[in-house]
Amino acid sequence: MKDLTLKPIHEKLQPILDTVLHRNAGEPEFHQAAREVLESLGRVINRHPEYSEDALIQRICEPERQIIFRVPWIDDNDQVQINRGFRVQFNSALGPYKGGIRFHPSVNVGIIKFLGFEQTFKNALTGMPIGGGKGGSDFDPKGRSDREIMRFCQSFMIELHRHIGEYVDVPAGDVGVGAREIGFMFGMYKRLNNRFEAGVLTGKGLVYGGSRARKEATGFGTVYFVRSMLNRKGTDFDGKRCVVSGSGNVAIYAIEKVLALGGKVVACSDSGGYIVDENGIDLELVKQIKEVERGRISQYVERRGDGCHYVKSGSVWDVPCEIALPCATQNELTAADAKTLIENGVIVVAEGANMPCTSAAVQQFRKAGIMFAPGKAANAGGVATSALEMQQNASRDSWSFAKTESRLEEIMSNIHDSCHETAEEYSAPGDYVLGANIAGFVRVADAMRAMGVI
Ligand code: NDP
Repeated sequence: MKDLTLKPIHEKLQPILDTVLHRNAGEPEFHQAAREVLESLGRVINRHPEYSEDALIQRICEPERQIIFRVPWIDDNDQVQINRGFRVQFNSALGPYKGGIRFHPSVNVGIIKFLGFEQTFKNALTGMPIGGGKGGSDFDPKGRSDREIMRFCQSFMIELHRHIGEYVDVPAGDVGVGAREIGFMFGMYKRLNNRFEAGVLTGKGLVYGGSRARKEATGFGTVYFVRSMLNRKGTDFDGKRCVVSGSGNVAIYAIEKVLALGGKVVACSDSGGYIVDENGIDLELVKQIKEVERGRISQYVERRGDGCHYVKSGSVWDVPCEIALPCATQNELTAADAKTLIENGVIVVAEGANMPCTSAAVQQFRKAGIMFAPGKAANAGGVATSALEMQQNASRDSWSFAKTESRLEEIMSNIHDSCHETAEEYSAPGDYVLGANIAGFVRVADAMRAMGVI
């Protein structure tokens, strides 16, 4: 049955999308990401037909390299476990492939491909010299001991190490991969290569080459982006009710920056359910439960006492708010959630996660005139700060938190302006989706055109 929420695509681009769908059968997330970008490009090729020459757009939709490998490891019960590892090196026109590694049971090649595709345009938007890639495994870290995590990360790197390098491909963390996992992987990479190549991974611990503010960067950056959107409308965070989904790395630091800018966060979630605290979320308690104890968000209510409650399963988007920051996972905010948010008076939705809103949800926000920031723009602060980490590693320097954060602030403001100005240039004022897709595309496409058909 025809999906009526889908927008028509330019006649020159439809065959390209058809090929993507055919060639990547069974990969709905990649189809969704490719369709969204191609939907935006019609206006570009009408104005600049040269971008549709030499199969440039077809090449952009095809990863340069895809690596799939076996990851055997031994659990605490002495049993051999087998997982599957992935690295999709999508596009290196602007610099070494760059993008995180995700450990989650839902990971498959289609998810990694969608993330790598998005990453290519996101990295271009930062204005920094980094290409796009993504990796991961269907390994589930939940409930695993530190030793099991270490053995898994070591086995993963025994294969991955031959495909990466500071001038080749620079992975970082993502869902299920934080400083602990990066440390184990860096240790194994260093041993296998017999060189201290600090710039091969980002998100490292501070003592061995990590950057200050990297941990905070994605969440902080998302909130800086929203601040720019609000400022453009003559308002700010002051006193506004916010809801953030997730309670992982991105969510926690988005909450921290919303609070610092005067907003009030009343709800957040994890994969089990959500909490509502009308007194405002106690961030230190969330950090203790999720970052330190690696526990469940439901424990918040037991410890915090009166004035808050936990809803098992359900949708955090039922909680009324003016600012919604989906920071958990892809397709977590549906058309029904978008309708509820609009009815409840939301004014801004910004994707801290990668593609957390379904296509139908995005359509609803755009139709209702809600300010909407796509992930490839709003959450680019993480990878931008990773690029700053690479810069510090290359110059054997270590910047202060304040210096790094002020660079992040400047980069987010530039990304906002570039999306906004590009949308205006292409006669779609206020359309950040179109602005982000076109601004990112043009930068990658210009580099590819300069390099010929490769
Ligand atoms: P984490 O693993 O640190 O946190 C993910 C959070 O989302 C956890 O709280 C998890 O709950 C929750 N979650 C997962 N699925 C659901 C669901 N269906 N409903 C509600 N909550 C859910 O990951 P990150 O914070 O690093 O990443 C979050 C998103 O941001 C991802 O899309 C990632 O790709 C994107 N991103 C991350 C960047 C980074 O620098 N880390 C950079 C740019 C984008 P539980 O604890 O139960 O697992």
